[in-house]
Amino acid sequence: GYGLVGSQFTGDDYIKYSSKTYDLRETNRVDSMFKKLRYEPMQLDGVIHTAAKVGGVGGNMKYKGEFFYDNVMINTNVIESARKHNVKNLVCFLSTCVFPDDVEYPLTEKKIHLGPPHFSNYPYAYAKRMADIQIRAYREQYGLNYKSVIPTNIYGLNDNFDIENGHVLPSLIHKCYIAREAKRPLTIWGSGTPLREFINSKDIGKLTEWVLENYNEDEPIILSNSEEISIKEVVEMIIEIMNFKGEVKWDSDKPDGQHRKPSDNTKIKHYLPDFKFTPLYEGLKETITWFENNYESVRGTKCMDIYNYN
Ligand code: GDP
Repeated sequence: GYGLVGSQFTGDDYIKYSSKTYDLRETNRVDSMFKKLRYEPMQLDGVIHTAAKVGGVGGNMKYKGEFFYDNVMINTNVIESARKHNVKNLVCFLSTCVFPDDVEYPLTEKKIHLGPPHFSNYPYAYAKRMADIQIRAYREQYGLNYKSVIPTNIYGLNDNFDIENGHVLPSLIHKCYIAREAKRPLTIWGSGTPLREFINSKDIGKLTEWVLENYNEDEPIILSNSEEISIKEVVEMIIEIMNFKGEVKWDSDKPDGQHRKPSDNTKIKHYLPDFKFTPLYEGLKETITWFENNYESVRGTKCMDIYNYN
């Protein structure tokens, strides 16, 4: 409830937990959590399941076993325990990583299982694909309104800004900060040619609330503005916003990951034709301001000796 996505859900309508209170990999802990919810004065209308072990291309390649095990356990436990405790409505988070590597573009909700995922994140991808299967199966057997969303690369406040394991935008913001403050070169991974689609966590918050209340289909729904941008262009934006004047280096020993994963947002556009996605530049500016103002307490910055970081 307090991570990049969970922090979007605020106010008296929500009861939230963090992984510190309930380790969702433990079936008993998940059951205790749902049992405790029965004694809350408010009625439980639904569950927004945002918990996951996530990371960027670095984290996904380094912790393959953990990314598989943690996500399989978390999803299996949460979805099953929600069912056991009579939760009728649930939203689960997938990712555009779930899609096959070799598939005809653009990616639509129908193409999730049409081939193996990219080698850089297959444990995460298969774990999330199993959540899609669990949800479809539970809909069919138990008639529950459980569904999944497929966001593209989410960024925003309360992200994990860890340089080695975080996603590209928070990692780049953190690295650019260090490079600027310590007057060192900024090193970017890969070639800069891969294309990504980014979505602001605030947009994800609004769209997810809509999905919880209004969406009821077997198939997941892609959440994206479907605008691709290259890593190189994103680096240029960050450098400009952060007023970095130093040298930029490209480290070709680091992975490029999947070249692109262009999504088809026809479905969400059909339901919400007037939805205004936050422009990337605007969202980046806000995220960077927040990051700089909260550097000491931001996730992924603790114990960072910026003058000795390589
Ligand atoms: P992905 O979308 O699942 O591949 O995950 P990321 O959010 O980690 O994005 C990875 C893309 O950004 C790859 O093309 C990387 O080469 C590129 N990239 C450039 N610099 C960095 C960096 O410092 N960290 C990360 N995670 N990716 C970077």
